[in-house]
Amino acid sequence: MKVIFLDIDGVLNCKDTPNPRKFPYIVDAGLLSLLKDLLAHTGAKIVLSSSWRTDPVGLLAAKYYGVPFVDVCPDLPEVSRCEEMLRWLSAHQEVHRYVVIDDESDCLDDLPLFQPSSSTGLTIEIVEGVEKYLAGKTDDTLRQSAIVRLGQNIHSLFKRDKS
Ligand SMILES: [Mg+2]
Repeated sequence: MKVIFLDIDGVLNCKDTPNPRKFPYIVDAGLLSLLKDLLAHTGAKIVLSSSWRTDPVGLLAAKYYGVPFVDVCPDLPEVSRCEEMLRWLSAHQEVHRYVVIDDESDCLDDLPLFQPSSSTGLTIEIVEGVEKYLAGKTDDTLRQSAIVRLGQNIHSLFKRDKS
């Protein structure tokens, strides 16, 4: 199973997303369509890591806009976002490849992060990078400042946390 941990703000919306009513939760139809293409090409499943998941209204909004998620990360206010994802992964051993798509990189340094700019949201470049990564063709991830090579192994991450 392949999984994408998905942020929404700055990924499925951007500064150009029309929002005349200034809704607190908004999804850009064009960016959502890019995401759906990515899922069709990879067979990956979406797990929401976005803060939308911690607000019942945000969760309803994600469903309303048709964001195709199958699960959400646990909401653990006392730990980092990274740890929330690792906890979800540890309960889902069937996952053999995963990425994080998030416009912010705080606390995500050890994860395979694909980081669009919040001014554009998801891009073709990010989509193609995720496709290659999930297919196992590369371990290169895409961050705003540089392409970072990352040998990611969930088990070594847990070991390092304990030591
Ligand atoms: Mg964001």
